[in-house]
Amino acid sequence: MDAQNRCVPRRQSLSLSPMDTDTKKNLIGLSRDELIAEMATIGEKPFRAKQLWHWLYNRGETDFAKMSSISKVMQARLAEQYVVLRPQLEREMISTDTTRKWLLKFDDGNEAETVYIPDEDETRGAVCISSQVGCTLTCKFCHTGTQLLVRNLTPAEIVGQFMVARDAYGEWPTPDDQARQLSNIVMMGMGEPLYNFDNVATALKIIMDGEGIAISKRRVTLSTSGVVPMMKRAGAEIGCNLAVSLHAVTDDVRDRIMPINKKYPLAELMRACAEYPGASNARRITFEYIMLKGVNDSAADARQLLRLLKGLPAKVNLIPFNPWPGSEFECSDMKAIRTFSDIIQDNGISAPIRKSRGADILAACGQLRSESQRQKCSRLSERLAAGIEDEHHKVPAE
Ligand code: SAH
Ligand code: SF4
Repeated sequence: MDAQNRCVPRRQSLSLSPMDTDTKKNLIGLSRDELIAEMATIGEKPFRAKQLWHWLYNRGETDFAKMSSISKVMQARLAEQYVVLRPQLEREMISTDTTRKWLLKFDDGNEAETVYIPDEDETRGAVCISSQVGCTLTCKFCHTGTQLLVRNLTPAEIVGQFMVARDAYGEWPTPDDQARQLSNIVMMGMGEPLYNFDNVATALKIIMDGEGIAISKRRVTLSTSGVVPMMKRAGAEIGCNLAVSLHAVTDDVRDRIMPINKKYPLAELMRACAEYPGASNARRITFEYIMLKGVNDSAADARQLLRLLKGLPAKVNLIPFNPWPGSEFECSDMKAIRTFSDIIQDNGISAPIRKSRGADILAACGQLRSESQRQKCSRLSERLAAGIEDEHHKVPAE
């Protein structure tokens, strides 16, 4: 681990007693309509919900008493019944290349990761958000795939990840588009977003709402391993950019490294891409392609990829495999990656090689959470060895 990494066991300072969070409803994660309906239950008109929305999502305010355009009476009523909560910050790590990663803990003790990945010039960048704790799919190259699915994240937990990132960068009130460091969002953290469709859709609509967090749909990308029946809905109802984790160009190889291919083989996946609503030459579908030595990285693979992408508004993102302890693959040689990229680019499709970011802070998908689980297990063994395991020292539910 690099000396510049910081491990900050910081907690959200919202000065709430545990009683508050147990008995009061969190307002974060309600859609606009749900917030209007919620305010109606305490006798408040829709325009009050609009004011509240502004405070929650444009100003990032968590304290009702500071919501100055709201009357004192309503502030008190809100404080009696509601809270404005973020996920709890368990660990924060900053890489030497300024990639920043947060391990967040939710009410039930489950954890997920959120990462900020700055562009090369470090003035802007993308926040990578998780949609599930773990994943039901078991892609062989993915660290998250080694963790069983624990559960779907709620809209509050998905939006909350971005809000924690904004807190860390002080980007409240919502800066205008040009001034933002956290300029983009990618649903590429832990989990398969299209297996948690409703919650992801609600959360992204909150994030894209122009009167709140206001990240435009053109700056939001949802990545899927290829849940074919949900792709059309994603385009129609969320309308953000699509990224597809392709990673192989034959059903044989894809079946082996991404078992979801047995359910939705390549021909069906490519058809769903061709029908993705909103895709155009100006808004291309990104095909993610991990470079795995000797598995999917030959010149013949590159040519087959060109055949698959024929006629689609596509761009390719070549991702050097990020190894993790126990993984069965190696990253392709740089020469093979460059040759692959050249073959694609010579045919007019952009195929940049993704720069590996944050390698020194366990940036491979799912690794930080696994590390946290491992530490809990070793803490448990230490306690057991010391004979102090009892009701008050239980290892948290995994
Ligand atoms: N479940 C979704 C989104 C999360 S995975 C999906 O599969 O698209 C986000 C991206 O990280 C995917 O393209 C995935 O293939 C990639 N990824 C997973 N493990 C990786 C590793 N070890 N090295 C590089 N990229 C990885
Ligand atoms: Fe799940 Fe995506 Fe990882 Fe596959 S690559 S195991 S779908 S998170």
